[in-house]
Amino acid sequence: MAIKDLIEHSPKRRAFLKTFAIGTAAALIPIAPPSSRPTSQLQALPPDKIRRNDMVYRRLGRTGLYISEISLGGSPLPDERLLFQLVERGINYIDTSDSYENGNCERKVGRLFKAVGRDKIHIHARFHLEGPWTEASLIASVERSLRRLGTDQVEILGIHGVEKPEHLTDERILGAFEKLKGKYRFRGLTCHVNQHTVIPKAVESGLYDMVQIGYNVFDIQETEKEVKTYIDYLGESGIRKLINLARSRDVGVTAMKVLKIGGRRQDLTAYKKGGPSLYPAMLKWALENEKLSAVVTEILNEEEMKEDLGAVGLPLAPAERRMLHAHVAANAGSYCHSCGLCQAACPEKIRTADISRCLAYAEGYGKRARAQAEFATLLPAIAACEDCGACERACPYGLLVRDRTRRAEGMLA
Ligand code: SF4
Ligand code: SF4
Repeated sequence: MAIKDLIEHSPKRRAFLKTFAIGTAAALIPIAPPSSRPTSQLQALPPDKIRRNDMVYRRLGRTGLYISEISLGGSPLPDERLLFQLVERGINYIDTSDSYENGNCERKVGRLFKAVGRDKIHIHARFHLEGPWTEASLIASVERSLRRLGTDQVEILGIHGVEKPEHLTDERILGAFEKLKGKYRFRGLTCHVNQHTVIPKAVESGLYDMVQIGYNVFDIQETEKEVKTYIDYLGESGIRKLINLARSRDVGVTAMKVLKIGGRRQDLTAYKKGGPSLYPAMLKWALENEKLSAVVTEILNEEEMKEDLGAVGLPLAPAERRMLHAHVAANAGSYCHSCGLCQAACPEKIRTADISRCLAYAEGYGKRARAQAEFATLLPAIAACEDCGACERACPYGLLVRDRTRRAEGMLA
């Protein structure tokens, strides 16, 4: 029986409606038909993919899990009515973290489990390395997450936002993973900064079954002659090469930050003149890479749901590709790749890459509160800035790092 049928006929659906208090109107939400697309739009699938209804599922490396190629990031999750719709439409993978929405992301997923059944959703739950963490504190944090999720096992337990390769083999972390055995099936991690050092170490260690990395249409520059410095910097650790490296060991790869710059709320007037839409094109561009298992994105309203699910299983059209090239050419000078080289060069250890990420949260994604909360932890160190310019000289993309720091301070302090 198909998932939609299980949901439709299960008593759990009724429980869901009650739990989520969404009433009669929501009960009329249509279940997706077997396929709402003309056959001419459906592509033949390679062996690592499965199509069910309008969703395509890709194998997540050696985990053997098949996850929806459009998957959900949990910071934040949509309201519960939309969350249910997204599951009905085939999304089966959600990214959670103990820090998202003060634990409410995990609570919401816990209620979703009760409504649709635990087996309908694969979870990548993650713990943070913040504060004076110890093996015991990591274990306690995961136990709290499991309680909020209302499950005794997650599919993937990961480390959130790894920045230092040495953390991947840190005995406190490995000790926690060891003691938590049975409460997760596979190990993973996410990485925003220093991907070029963290991901190879994760792959080579053999300890991690999947990695989640930033991958964005601005990585299109890897093939553009005019940004030679980027190629010089990337060397053997370009983002695509990182993906290839992981897949060569059958480590699964999911992508985040696919819609970065400017996130959802950037002024898109330039793209709304009857031409193709930017966001589905960005998603299709990422999904062109067959080695990726999913794009993890946020879907917060019906329009975003329509845009994102509309990208499933479809190739990037020539007009969309031209638009993306134009978009990259116009905005490359302000796109931060989160490589981390600027902050590594700062004699005062000011975390300029993280500051830049806060700026992206605020300007691109409209997540001002989150940006302010993170920026507050970075602000005290900025006072030590000597305006030496080392951060800018280190940036392989020529970004005005000091300007970005000042802008962040003006906007978020
Ligand atoms: S200009 Fe400031 S932030 Fe940049 S490297 Fe120098 S001290 Fe660090
Ligand atoms: S500002 Fe430049 S060096 Fe710093 S993280 Fe962004 S791209 Fe890398």
